[in-house]
Amino acid sequence: MISEKMKPYVKNNSAIRMMFEEGNRLRAKYGTDKVFDFSLGNPSVPAPDCVREAIIELVNETDSTVLHGYMSNAGFEDVRQTIAESLNKRFDTKFSAKNLIMTVGAASGLNVILKTILNPGEEVIVFAPYFLEYGAYVRNYDGVLVEISPDTATFQPNLAEFEKKITPKTKAVIVNTPHNPTGVVYSEETIRKLSAILEAKQKEFGTVIYLISDEPYRELAYDGVEVPYLTKYYDNTVVGYSYSKSLSLPGERIGYLVIPDEADGSEELISAATIANRTLGCVNAPSLIQKVVAKCVDAKTDLAAYDKNRQALYNGLKECGFECIKPQGAFYLFVKSPVADEKAFCEAGKKYNILMVPGSSFACPGYVRLAYCVSYETIVNSLPEFKKLAAEYGL
Ligand code: PLP
Repeated sequence: MISEKMKPYVKNNSAIRMMFEEGNRLRAKYGTDKVFDFSLGNPSVPAPDCVREAIIELVNETDSTVLHGYMSNAGFEDVRQTIAESLNKRFDTKFSAKNLIMTVGAASGLNVILKTILNPGEEVIVFAPYFLEYGAYVRNYDGVLVEISPDTATFQPNLAEFEKKITPKTKAVIVNTPHNPTGVVYSEETIRKLSAILEAKQKEFGTVIYLISDEPYRELAYDGVEVPYLTKYYDNTVVGYSYSKSLSLPGERIGYLVIPDEADGSEELISAATIANRTLGCVNAPSLIQKVVAKCVDAKTDLAAYDKNRQALYNGLKECGFECIKPQGAFYLFVKSPVADEKAFCEAGKKYNILMVPGSSFACPGYVRLAYCVSYETIVNSLPEFKKLAAEYGL
């Protein structure tokens, strides 16, 4: 009954569902505090107080027909202007309301921009490991996903292979920094080199290649590391932002796209993306939460809590003998599996009630992802179990 296009997603979804159900089964059997579920990227830090305060104030003080009504498909103009001004202050950019389109989270922002630019058969390049949904989003518009293999020494993008795989059909490149699943932040040097390659290829082929910066983890960066703002390095950049992680609002579905004036065909892109927002069925981003994020434009999540988890889990796993790059952003650790078959390693972890996601779910087998957006106690209590797991592999 279902379409051929849908069938692979349904098959793949059952694997994710099984992991979710496995977590529930273990919690029911052993108790929540005895299960170490590192599988989900659901923020463990509550939304900042200003979110609740803004909701109450808005509901009490705004005309209901405005607060809950339709607005421009791009979102409320005052909200977009407030965010544009905040970005200009932080990154020395020159955006205004017209450069922003409010979206239903990063997932919908990516769908909007891909729908806007992709013709069937055009290629979108991604760097492994990557958020596997990118494949689904590209296929939604009959695009072709082109993977670049990982540089497992640094998990910075493999630029030598990237340069070779750009073709006249390349329409876009998606980057994600801070990065899911490795936690790596792409250095300024990487961004400069990547931009230079794109400039040269645009010239060589006489094409336009958009760089899509998927950045739901922008605010989650540690050790004072700078996360470069990509529109400043490459004109054809489109930014996809989300408040899912930065304000712990994943269920509210709120984010935005930035399409700068400098991007080729900027005006046409903005108006087409606004229409795509509507025709994709989102119509507009949810109205109340648009107003909330504008009121909380300078609010910050409790980064110290994630940082404490990061240090504890990273140090604990290293002491057990596991290999892992110390992440500078997001809330994930990407750990080398002690055996090539990382799915077997994930299975072994379940004996100790440790739930991890296999790297093949990010097109990078041989590794596992641990989401440390959990309670600190979960991390502390998991370490003796990790020690037993490590011992099984002679670490
Ligand atoms: N992109 C990446 C790299 C993600 O990790 C996620 C969610 O985890 C998303 C996009 C989707 O985020 P949102 O909840 O804003 O749609």
